Amino acid sequence: MSLQIEEIPPRSLENQRPKTQDQKPVAPATLEELQAIDARCGIQNYGRLPVAFKRGSGARLWDESGKEYLDFLGGIAVVTLGHSHPKVAAAITHQANTLLHTSNMFYIEPQVKLAEKLSELSGGKRAFFCNSGTEANEAAIKIARKWQHNKGTGRFEIISALDGFHGRTYGGLSATGQPKYHEGFGPMPEGFYYVPLNDIEALSSVINEQTAAIILEPIQGESGIRPADDEYLRAVRELCDEHGVLLIFDEVQCGIGRTGKFFAHEWSGVTPDVITLAKGLGNGVPIGALLATDEVATALSPGTHGCTFGGNFLSCAAGLATLEVLEEEELMQNALVQGEYFARCLREWGSENGLIAEVRGRGLMLSAQLSQPVAKDIMKASLENGFVFNAVGDDVLRFLPPLCITQNDVDEAIDKLEQARTAV
Ligand SMILES: *Cc1c(COP(=O)(O)O)cnc(C)c1O
Repeated sequence: MSLQIEEIPPRSLENQRPKTQDQKPVAPATLEELQAIDARCGIQNYGRLPVAFKRGSGARLWDESGKEYLDFLGGIAVVTLGHSHPKVAAAITHQANTLLHTSNMFYIEPQVKLAEKLSELSGGKRAFFCNSGTEANEAAIKIARKWQHNKGTGRFEIISALDGFHGRTYGGLSATGQPKYHEGFGPMPEGFYYVPLNDIEALSSVINEQTAAIILEPIQGESGIRPADDEYLRAVRELCDEHGVLLIFDEVQCGIGRTGKFFAHEWSGVTPDVITLAKGLGNGVPIGALLATDEVATALSPGTHGCTFGGNFLSCAAGLATLEVLEEEELMQNALVQGEYFARCLREWGSENGLIAEVRGRGLMLSAQLSQPVAKDIMKASLENGFVFNAVGDDVLRFLPPLCITQNDVDEAIDKLEQARTAV
């Protein structure tokens, strides 16, 4: 039986009336209640810490009990501007009230404008949008292979660095040179090879006539903030040019002003063929981007790649607002200033107590390499004491705060670290 248009009942006024008044307020869930439900209903793929944040502002967070925290994790380099930035909130609220989805069959104004902005920032690269870092890297691997295919070179191999991280889907995972992430998920896609970072000899011995692209993080994030040397990156660029190999920089974590320049690779003066972005681009709204030179971009002709949600109104409105505020509030400069101050404070604090062997990173992408395996203890004691960051393995503290932090926040961070150190 087919339903005629006339038979569809018109929406009654009853259904249209907002229900909020006559609904009973839902009691806020306690941490214990959330933990019990999650244990019963959530796939337990995250080892979660016993905190449920409820509200955020700038570099501050509050949990369900009202306790305040200083946030030096920023949702893992996602919250570029600080929590609940009013300009981002206004942009996504306006967009939600205007239009959310039409599909990439049509032009999408905020997407086009965000592409234009990223083009300016990247020296004229073209943009493709997706929803995450791994999807951006997926697109980067695909564009590299397709570009080589179109040129008829037969090159398909991808080289990446050991201890790098490029995401959890099969392409990004295959490029991730860390066996622990691959274990049990095999077989992996073919054609991925790994070399130690900052070892140009190792790279030059692996490049051959099958190599399509090299993908590197200018600063490795997940393995504890391990920077590629500027000189190494310049040598990699030369090798790539010599061999007709594409150079992809994964700036998913180190990009969007975090190091004091919009792209971390700008410090080296090297220009890549392809850049991937995600984490900090939407200040918390999911968005990923692939940027490619005019020439490489031609490989993704109509129909060759796509993404339903990629470049949607909401995420691109958030991205545009994020980039505007980044400039207006001069947050890249602040990242540089506060990053240098924080690194200096960490070194001084570490030399007093002998706990820190090395401070690594640039801008507000920093880590402290500890001389003892107490990173998790210090992180947990800090969390209890209202200070958020993360521990990488047993002996690295990683800091990725919002770029709006002040000198007072840094001083407070050092105080909290000292309190945690004496407590463990
Ligand atoms: C987080 C990260 C990814 C993966 O991003 P998702 O959004 O989690 O898929 C890829 N590359 C780098 C360098 C990252 O830090």
